[in-house]
Amino acid sequence: MKTVIEPFRIKSVEPIHFTSFSERVQLLKDASFNPFLLKAKDVIIDLLTDSGTGAMSSNQWAGIMRGDESYAGSESFYRFESVISNLTAMPCIIPVHQGRAAEKILFTVKGGKGKYVLSNTLFDTTRANVEFSGAQGIDLLCEEGKQPALVAPFKGNIDLIALEKCINDKGAENIALVIITVTNNSGGGQPVSMANIRQAKQICAACQIPFFIDACRFAENSYFVKLREEGYQDKSVLEIAQELFSYADGCTMSAKKDAMANIGGFLAVHDEKLAEECRNLLIITEGFPTYGGLAGRDLEAIATGLEEIVHEDYLKYRIRSIEYIGEQLDKENIPYLKPTGGHAIYLDARAFLPHIPVEQYPGQALCCALYLEGGIRGVEIGSVMFGKYAADGSLIPAVNELVRLALPRRTYTQSHMDYLAEVITEVFKHRHQVKGLDITYESPYLRHFTAKFQPVSGDIQPAGE
Ligand SMILES: *Cc1c(COP(=O)(O)O)cnc(C)c1O
Repeated sequence: MKTVIEPFRIKSVEPIHFTSFSERVQLLKDASFNPFLLKAKDVIIDLLTDSGTGAMSSNQWAGIMRGDESYAGSESFYRFESVISNLTAMPCIIPVHQGRAAEKILFTVKGGKGKYVLSNTLFDTTRANVEFSGAQGIDLLCEEGKQPALVAPFKGNIDLIALEKCINDKGAENIALVIITVTNNSGGGQPVSMANIRQAKQICAACQIPFFIDACRFAENSYFVKLREEGYQDKSVLEIAQELFSYADGCTMSAKKDAMANIGGFLAVHDEKLAEECRNLLIITEGFPTYGGLAGRDLEAIATGLEEIVHEDYLKYRIRSIEYIGEQLDKENIPYLKPTGGHAIYLDARAFLPHIPVEQYPGQALCCALYLEGGIRGVEIGSVMFGKYAADGSLIPAVNELVRLALPRRTYTQSHMDYLAEVITEVFKHRHQVKGLDITYESPYLRHFTAKFQPVSGDIQPAGE
């Protein structure tokens, strides 16, 4: 098999600003050992997120110029609408400025006190919007999905038995909706099988519960179905995606992910009455229903991005890039969440740094070590993000201590991936010298964004370049 190459040429470039090890020591101290507080220009390879950070194509940029900025009935909206209705077959398409705006509107209408929202895993903004409405979110991830080292094809699946049981326990009339996140961002970017979606839909339909999809990475998920699920090898990714959406009563989407745009999103539903309620809220917070908080040019970029994302050359390169990093890490037995998922590699910080107790945040320590070693920025997905305190002040840790290294779309090349693997390997070789961290400041909500830290003893890591 020949090497999978980047399926694009580069027309416009952005220089990377290099820093030395000693500069990074100072920069990290100034950022209180929280990579969120670094300036982007001081990062060599930025893997903080794949949200809105990808490269747009020449066609998308052409769309930016073509954008119709009419307040109402813009041509760009009709193009946006036609691409999404071709994909989802849903008649009501509502543009919004980000995925979470779609969530806010949906759960304001469908959520509320006494209601439950069931999911494979709710993404953090989704959970926040469910809870803000007064409803309760419940994750019902399949058993395989909970074991980081286990290799299985569809670790993002919802547990169907648990789903039925939960509906029975809570009462179908109290379930606002079931929403499946494809791929499962908080659970390692793992895909959900078509069979699982079909069966979840059947269970919901039998109880008249609306079935939704959080579609942020629908194309990556559809490509995994093509690769891994019996009967889909000869179908196009677009056909697979169309089947996936055919089971849903509605979907929410962040266009910053699999629409390859820098901003935007949408809410799409079949039910006209629900759409009308949603549009009433949209007008208050986002804007008129044909622009929903976006410029006409954004609608164009999203429409084109949605057409480009299902190209198999692109998806092959995308999934291969992540798999390639996994193969480099396997050579040194470096622990990561297996198998590699769609948009990111998730290092298992607890296994990587077993000498650092969870109270000293091994994921955060690993993030800092990657930055010091090679200017790489990732994000902790562990007890800094999800930890809670017991009444006696002791930490209730997260289930896993992970470091997510998310790849912006079409942005980095193979040699950047080689560099990344080298940096991770180098940190792994001197992992015993990496020190834990204490929190010195934290905010009451979403503390990972702004928390400040200091090394538990002296310097975080004595090794040099
Ligand atoms: C990013 C994301 C969202 C929220 O979208 P924003 O555009 O960031 O508001 C919701 N669900 C999933 C799975 C996501 O990855």
